Amino acid sequence: MAVFKATKESVKALIALQALDLALDENARDLAAVPSRKAAEEAAFEAKKGALAAAKAELTRLQVEKKNMELKAAGKEEEIRKHQRDLNQIKSNDAYKALENEIAFAAREKDEAETAVLELLERIDAAAAAEKAEQAAVRSLEVSLGEKLAALDAGAAALASAGDGLRERRAALTGSIQPDLLERYEFLRGRLKGQAVAEVSGRPGDKLSCGGCHMRLRPQEAVDLLKPDGLAVCGECQRLMYLRATIFGAVEKQESGA
Ligand SMILES: [Zn+2]
Repeated sequence: MAVFKATKESVKALIALQALDLALDENARDLAAVPSRKAAEEAAFEAKKGALAAAKAELTRLQVEKKNMELKAAGKEEEIRKHQRDLNQIKSNDAYKALENEIAFAAREKDEAETAVLELLERIDAAAAAEKAEQAAVRSLEVSLGEKLAALDAGAAALASAGDGLRERRAALTGSIQPDLLERYEFLRGRLKGQAVAEVSGRPGDKLSCGGCHMRLRPQEAVDLLKPDGLAVCGECQRLMYLRATIFGAVEKQESGA
């Protein structure tokens, strides 16, 4: 394993820079997600409006159907009355019987139409209630949509300003990192799309592995990590590796207590 020569102060600043950059990545991801989150809220509202339009259309359809059935019943009633008037003028027995059959047939059709009207009245009541419920849902969603969109906009503004803050801190930090180390870091970060500096997991004397690719370190690599003036380079992923205890001292000693 290669070792990248660097002062402890530079390494500390680089580790802080890495944390800032990861925070910036997350900030950018969150910010980029805002338009699609707004679009999703708007789409949910449009879908609800669609449900209301469908409920309205169903109510209208039932009302038209009821009107048609009422017209049909009235038409049959008129037909029956006309046939009954005609009945008085008929001389032949057969013709009389035939007309009586027609009257009975029309009466059945009139009954059916009237029954259909009653059924439609019930369905219209239910459809009107459904439409009213959809209307209420659309109204309340409209209010909450406005609130949600405003919250998302406010969140986006907060993210943007947090991003500005992070970038300012980043600019201040890069000044305290030696240029060749910073250059190597930027190159690795561009190539790895994220983490370029990895803390080694495990403790000295134990089995150690790269915090980036999780490959086990060889014994010589573990020895290199204990040198205070440099960063080890992972032979697998090329990330710059450090051991927390080497860079920051034994700050975590109290946890191993007893
Ligand atoms: Zn690695």
